[in-house]
Amino acid sequence: MRIYKVGGAVRDRLLGIPVTDIDWVVVGATTEEMLAKGFRPVGADFPVFLHPKSGEEYALARTERKSGRGYGGFTFHASPEVTLEEDLIRRDLTINAMAEDDQQNLTDPYHGQRDLEARLLRHVSPAFAEDPLRVLRVARFAARYAALGFTVAPETLELMRQLSESGELEALTPERSWKEISRALMEDQPQVFIEVLRACGALKVLMPEVDALFGVPQPPAHHPEIDTGAHTLSVLQQAALYKQPLTVRWACLLHDLGKGLTPEEEWPRHIAHEFKGLKLIKAVNERFKAPRDCQELAMLVGEYHTHGHRALELKPSTLLELLQSFDVYRRPQRFEEFIAACEMDARGREGLEERSYPQADYLRGAATAARTVAVQPLLEKGFKGPELGEAIKRERLKALKAYKEQV
Ligand code: ATP
Ligand code: MG
Repeated sequence: MRIYKVGGAVRDRLLGIPVTDIDWVVVGATTEEMLAKGFRPVGADFPVFLHPKSGEEYALARTERKSGRGYGGFTFHASPEVTLEEDLIRRDLTINAMAEDDQQNLTDPYHGQRDLEARLLRHVSPAFAEDPLRVLRVARFAARYAALGFTVAPETLELMRQLSESGELEALTPERSWKEISRALMEDQPQVFIEVLRACGALKVLMPEVDALFGVPQPPAHHPEIDTGAHTLSVLQQAALYKQPLTVRWACLLHDLGKGLTPEEEWPRHIAHEFKGLKLIKAVNERFKAPRDCQELAMLVGEYHTHGHRALELKPSTLLELLQSFDVYRRPQRFEEFIAACEMDARGREGLEERSYPQADYLRGAATAARTVAVQPLLEKGFKGPELGEAIKRERLKALKAYKEQV
């Protein structure tokens, strides 16, 4: 049997980027031989094994053929006769279809190296269209390598467009889609992911609620960039610049969905968009089965981001309601993430990226003030049950009034 490094490890070494995980392909071996060598089988779908010591993935060389809709609709063929070239041709991008032996000899039948130099994300063969997940993968790689100057080859974008129009994207499972989306959002240029999806028509299929934001104007006084879609991309870009976690990035992407529902006669104003957007945010959350913390933050940021921006003008009672809605006493971290999302929203406006955001510290101070209300003295005064709850709220309100006067 012959063993080669493939995929990302080869690509990233040639790009001079640190390699984190290594994928291997094994040519000329059978499952029985792998098992005899101590490899552990994984994955019900394909003949993939884990190395007994390193735990890295070793896949038998295989060919694939489409036999039905979606990811399940694949038949594969793995046997010792399958060549390296045959295995490489089923891969998504030319830059991912190179292999390397232990002497660093490159096998590059589909000119991945040439495309690395040309900074092009190009599909290997027309079979690209057989797995719709590749649309998301290419958009993710575009986001990851945007800083290096990579773009999607026009003919690949065209294939992605055909795939998006074919209805195949609907066959993706939420789990597979979310894995790509969440990884893409964590890249340094997550906005490129959305841009590429939009450019090939996939955004309209996957997240029509986000797609609908493009072409929707906002008041120029607050939003010099005017376009709501452009604003959303900038907010996402700021979130990456400020190294925000996935929860915040997800909330940033979805915070303004309500603006896509505003009747044109009301443009560029978006009355109550925060509230109107909630059902859309919920729908996107559920479509991709986003993790609970992402779902929750997106809903809260959607509903309350304008409160965040108006923090300094809020009455103490409104401020208290905001803190209660976030259960800031038990969930301080979630409130921090809300503040971060609001700040990214404010910075994601053309020409205002550097403007300070005093609301952030003000909100933190308010949370601290409300949190310092001690329960013990109220218990000692004999408050119980719902009365105790009311008493705590009264004390918190007092604390917030004092805070507002003192700031
Ligand atoms: P990363 O740095 O994100 O791990 P990678 O290119 O190694 O990037 P993997 O998901 O680890 O990506 O997959 C390893 C290789 O397997 C890819 O480089 C590609 O050749 C191939 N591959 C993975 N998923 C697909 C797919 N859906 N369609 C075609 N080829 C794929
Ligand atoms: Mg990999």
